[in-house]
Amino acid sequence: MKLIFLTTALVSYMLPACLGFPYEQEVLHQTKHERIKKVMADYKDVANAIIDLAVHGGAQNRSYNRLARFVDTIGNRMSGTENLKNAINYMYKALQEDKLQNVSLEPVKVPHWVRGEESAMMLKPRNKSIAILGLGSSIGTPPEGISAEVIVVSSFTELHNRAKEAKGKIVVYNQPFVSYGETVQYRAYGASEAAKVGAVASLIRSITPFSVYSPHTGWQDYQKDVPKIPTACISIEDAEMFARMASRGETIVVLLKMGAINNPDADSFNTVAEIVGSKYPEQVVIVSGHLDSWDVGQGAMDDGGGAFISWEALSLIKDLGLHPKRTLRLVLWTGEEQGGVGAGQYYQSHKKDISNIDLVMETDIGTFMPTGLQFSGNTEAQAIMTEIMQLLKPINITNLYGNAEGTDISYWMEAGVPGASLIDEIDKYFWFHHSQGDTMTVQNPVWMNLCAAVWTVVSYVVADLEEMLPRER
Ligand SMILES: [Zn+2]
Repeated sequence: MKLIFLTTALVSYMLPACLGFPYEQEVLHQTKHERIKKVMADYKDVANAIIDLAVHGGAQNRSYNRLARFVDTIGNRMSGTENLKNAINYMYKALQEDKLQNVSLEPVKVPHWVRGEESAMMLKPRNKSIAILGLGSSIGTPPEGISAEVIVVSSFTELHNRAKEAKGKIVVYNQPFVSYGETVQYRAYGASEAAKVGAVASLIRSITPFSVYSPHTGWQDYQKDVPKIPTACISIEDAEMFARMASRGETIVVLLKMGAINNPDADSFNTVAEIVGSKYPEQVVIVSGHLDSWDVGQGAMDDGGGAFISWEALSLIKDLGLHPKRTLRLVLWTGEEQGGVGAGQYYQSHKKDISNIDLVMETDIGTFMPTGLQFSGNTEAQAIMTEIMQLLKPINITNLYGNAEGTDISYWMEAGVPGASLIDEIDKYFWFHHSQGDTMTVQNPVWMNLCAAVWTVVSYVVADLEEMLPRER
């Protein structure tokens, strides 16, 4: 440290005053960078050991096999269901059997929406059954259903321009898929926008770029003081068929029946396990995924993969006999699909410890072939993470991107805690998302091994560094 100061002082002395300050900064920056590089060199062997065990050694395919057994045994896990209760009990036992520390369940309340029986029939211009998936929080129809003429629009703008035509009708949105973030607003707000112009129900083209006649469900939000109308997603194929019929001037009539019910909030739990820190046990790195899912498919991809590589990170560290300085805490969130409900309550009850939360990590956009890490943090923290990623050279996954994402970790990141999420080849993710297609068949053991290696090296090294990640903005 002293040497660094001396060198900097000497160099700046030799420079004209106007250049001195930035140059000094530059030298400081370089020496800091050298120091990070030197620290990381000490982690090379342990990173290689993690990679060997996860990718080539005795732990290869373990997260895949654990996940397969779990989803085949439990099935999908919607908030409020027996399946989700069974899943939480299953994980509570499994984490204890894995000899992790402080295995616990933290109670939270989650929404309890039940889909019930649902169907749609096109009655005009001909009879045809229409595949639907009701949207989370939607109200049901009367038992005899709602039979009404259809108006097809391709955007909210078109709906507003044709507002007078929509009264008493079922609005079909045939919006093109641009990106999930942009297009999902039709699923989230389509019902209330349709209700504002007097529609009796809304059917929304599923939020996906690709379809084999698959409706995709998801949460939707009714706006305050707008009448609630039933709403469901339909396949791309039927949305396009309705649009073609409407453009030819054909009258379309649909009979929609939905038995959906919104029950009072249900009891649930975030599932927690730890490897307690050897030097700074009160300081914590959180690794996480969500355990709940939709009530279709197996929830293997969303977010079984994320939950199980997060568990794998703790298993690998324990199996290698590593004792990171800080505590590694696995959190398997509940109620994510209803808007990060379990994570929101976790944040409220733990935010008093925010100064000790070093890094929050979540993977919730698939565990396909990983390409790197998304990271939110200041420049100094980014420099450290960039060097940590270099430890993953043996598997060639070294990219660091900006803007970590994850509904469940967003509470912490918004409050200034550094966050990280895994980034993988997600081009096919939305093909399966929230549909019957989200099964174990989508998962790949080799990719999961690589995801687990990245997740473990990053979480271990951050938890073991002498200092917490800098976070001042
Ligand atoms: Zn998810």
